[in-house]
Amino acid sequence: MACPTAMRNELLGNTVAKNLEKRGFEAVYVATAAEAKEKALSYIRKDDVISWGGCRSAEDCGLIDELRGGAYPNIIDRDTAKTPEEKTELSRKAFFADVYIGGANAISEDGQIVNIDGNGNRVAAMTWGPTNVIVIASVDKIAKTVEDAVARARMVAAPINMQRFGKDTPCTKTGTCMNCMSPDSICNVFQIIRRCNSRQGRIKVILVGEKLGF
Ligand code: SF4
Repeated sequence: MACPTAMRNELLGNTVAKNLEKRGFEAVYVATAAEAKEKALSYIRKDDVISWGGCRSAEDCGLIDELRGGAYPNIIDRDTAKTPEEKTELSRKAFFADVYIGGANAISEDGQIVNIDGNGNRVAAMTWGPTNVIVIASVDKIAKTVEDAVARARMVAAPINMQRFGKDTPCTKTGTCMNCMSPDSICNVFQIIRRCNSRQGRIKVILVGEKLGF
């Protein structure tokens, strides 16, 4: 008998992929991190200008290391910046990329993508600028409603990000969002992509059964 968890993930992933497609996204379900990486690479040409924002799932499946490995000569990697000014400049250049690797803090069952950003560069590039956008997200980021998705972004993803960055915010002491106004807060820009309106399939969503990111 097939693994019940794998069966459920596949059913849910395919259901949400269909709902994302109804909203103009290109969407697919794959079972494993390795398949997610291969699917993402199938959308990318070697000579594309490629960049990315905060995208832990793309890191976890090995996509970012692959892009940094030398076979893709036109990457814009802001982590190579030596100064804050250079980092800002590289983030600006990312708007001209052929392919931008974005992310999702949560996705509602009806196919809406929710993100919270500190600076807003990632969410801005996801909605305008780069020719194509790729989002890799585990099915554990799927929430019942868009309100549930916002809650997940706020109660799960944001506090974990704050821990990762070692920030001095209430959630790093309590483990939950305290709706703070801390200067260190990453919770500055809330984005819901309700439809991929700029061009059918501009944003390609790869839903993954295997857990990636957080
Ligand atoms: S609003 Fe403040 S407390 Fe809530 S998750 Fe963001 S940084 Fe943490």
